Amino acid sequence: MTSSIKKTYCRVCEASCGLAVEVEEDGHGNETIRRIKPDDEHPISRGYACIKGTTLGGIHHDPDRVNYPMKRINGVFQRISWEQAIQEIADRASAIKTRYGANALGHYSGNPSHANFKNILCTGDFIKILGSRNLYASHSIDLNNKFQVASDMYGVEIVHPIPDFEHIQFFMCIGANPVVSQMSVISVINPLEKMQSIEARGGKVVIVDPRRSETASKVGEHLFIQPGTDAFLLLAMLAVLHFELNFSVSKVDKFADGAQELLAAAKQWTPERVEPITGIAAADIRRIAEEYQKADGAALYMSTGVNMGPFGSIAYWVLQGINYLSGNLDKRGGLLIPEGALDWLGLAQQIIVNDPDIVTAEHGWQQVAGCFPITALPEEILSAQPDHIRALFISAGNPVHSTPHSDWPKAMESLDLCVSVDIYINETAERYADYVLPATDMLERSDFPLSHLPLQSEPYAQYSTAVLRAKFERREEWQIFGDLLLAIGAPLVSTKPLLILSRINAVLKRLPGNMLLTPDHLLKLLLAFGGKASLKQLRAKPEGIKLPPHEPGSFLTKRLKRPINLAPSRVLSDLPRLTAYAENLEQGRSAKSASSLLLIGRRSRKSHNSWMHNNQDIKQPDSNYVYIHPEDAATRQLSDGDRAKISNGDKFIVLPVSITTDLMKGVIAASHGWGHQDSKNRKSRRLSGENVNRVIPGGNAHMEPVSGQAIMLGHPVEVVKLVESVASS
Ligand code: SF4
Repeated sequence: MTSSIKKTYCRVCEASCGLAVEVEEDGHGNETIRRIKPDDEHPISRGYACIKGTTLGGIHHDPDRVNYPMKRINGVFQRISWEQAIQEIADRASAIKTRYGANALGHYSGNPSHANFKNILCTGDFIKILGSRNLYASHSIDLNNKFQVASDMYGVEIVHPIPDFEHIQFFMCIGANPVVSQMSVISVINPLEKMQSIEARGGKVVIVDPRRSETASKVGEHLFIQPGTDAFLLLAMLAVLHFELNFSVSKVDKFADGAQELLAAAKQWTPERVEPITGIAAADIRRIAEEYQKADGAALYMSTGVNMGPFGSIAYWVLQGINYLSGNLDKRGGLLIPEGALDWLGLAQQIIVNDPDIVTAEHGWQQVAGCFPITALPEEILSAQPDHIRALFISAGNPVHSTPHSDWPKAMESLDLCVSVDIYINETAERYADYVLPATDMLERSDFPLSHLPLQSEPYAQYSTAVLRAKFERREEWQIFGDLLLAIGAPLVSTKPLLILSRINAVLKRLPGNMLLTPDHLLKLLLAFGGKASLKQLRAKPEGIKLPPHEPGSFLTKRLKRPINLAPSRVLSDLPRLTAYAENLEQGRSAKSASSLLLIGRRSRKSHNSWMHNNQDIKQPDSNYVYIHPEDAATRQLSDGDRAKISNGDKFIVLPVSITTDLMKGVIAASHGWGHQDSKNRKSRRLSGENVNRVIPGGNAHMEPVSGQAIMLGHPVEVVKLVESVASS
């Protein structure tokens, strides 16, 4: 028995915390994870990691993992060989493609895919190499608006200015709860500590949220806001800054076009008009705007609590506009645009291609970051077009569980072929997959945080080799999709790395030796030509290498390829919807009835979307809860622990009640990702929580028009005390 410590990093969220994994080897090739600790030697995380990272062993050793290719035979999954799986799937996909055309094949890529550089460089091209337009991705569940607005304003989806936490004096955080779920579209370690140090040096932190979150209870001034109205707050702040405080735009105007259109859009949203919409007093809006302006370095930040509401794109546009017009963009003490270990900005412009002429068949949704929005998928499957989707490949995703749409069952049942590539048989696969192919987990593959390079608050590079050999017959996704590609029949010549590697490997496999070309070779090349550290250097420092700090001013003067577009037409065209929303409220025509409450989400430190509840090493609560204000509870005779029926039309769920003054009146909160009773995964199926997506409307009418972002927050629901036992609908 030997034991060793291996360095790696967690790939659950953008923080990418360094981990030290103690692995025991029994002398017969069997490896066991003894312990995972935060890595004290990691140059950025310096001994910080949350429970999700330190319990990854519970996923690696989970007896419910899928370990072999499985085929549904007479309704039951049975083990088959890899050869049989690849050939049968390829034969069926190929027949569909020949008969109906390439667009009849679709691919959905779930959340963990973004943290796997091999998926970014290779797997994402699988369906496109086959000639299909139909690639869908999970970023349309919670951040399509950010990608779309960045693309429209900066010309590339991955520019998301990062607050210079070490120097800012004012930080406003809207719709985020970093204490529980870190920060999204920012790679930053221990954001609470960062925010507390702003206060410690005399600066100001403002948290805007319909709930006094765990973050708001520990740092800053908290402002309650009506769900879905953040865009109005930001517009009112801009109106105050420019029209009342004579916020000068002249000194930065040379790097951008469209400032006057942006300012004109803000003009009507005075704090007095916005107060009854947002629930934030006009005096507070003015005061916050003044504090922002007076600060020597300020940053505004918003996250999923805004993204998933009705006006996520408008909000992000205004927020970016304020950050820029105030002179805080690309400034020490404001917001910086990281370069990363290699020119990912340049690379992204080659990899992420959105052809405006390529749209979904049914409602003409465009691609965002190269992918269509996921809640458009059921309608694309059920479309009457002859080449509608008939075969669906799903990698690291659970779309039926994770997104709202009443047509999911009908759509999925109509497919001729459904293949899930995953580490678990999740709810989507359990019900609808014909085949499930076992993927490696993050500890079983080498990796590099490619997608997070432009998001790093402190620049660094880290390459992790695989900590463990892949157990059983688990395989890496790029290999699975490469094999499928060749078996289905791909073009002979392509510039796409997935096909090039797969074709070369098909030859190498016939030769003696175990030589294979992998995406790691591609990474080595990318780092060799223009990287700030070579792969050899990174291999020598497995805990990671700190890179020189971001250079303020370098983005606007050197890296920006064209002026920033402060008046993107796509966003401007959505402004009438915003005005109509306000006018409906002002004229008493709200979609919310007198008795309904607005449903928002709430994250948990112990879970991540829908795939952490079976982790053997995390003790979960028995259920998700509905959180409700005491006055709303009292009018419904609800007490703590009662069961409440939450309904939207004829759909309802039942959740235990938790009464809290941390929520604003008129709002309820519940965590997503629950409701695993249909799963065969033994731990999660015993939990009694419910899937909130059952009471959230989905589909075309509930997608944000600018980006196709699913609108999942702020919908009115009815809440009553449950006095009898019923099954959820
Ligand atoms: S904060 Fe937690 S989930 Fe995120 S990378 Fe670190 S350990 Fe993983």
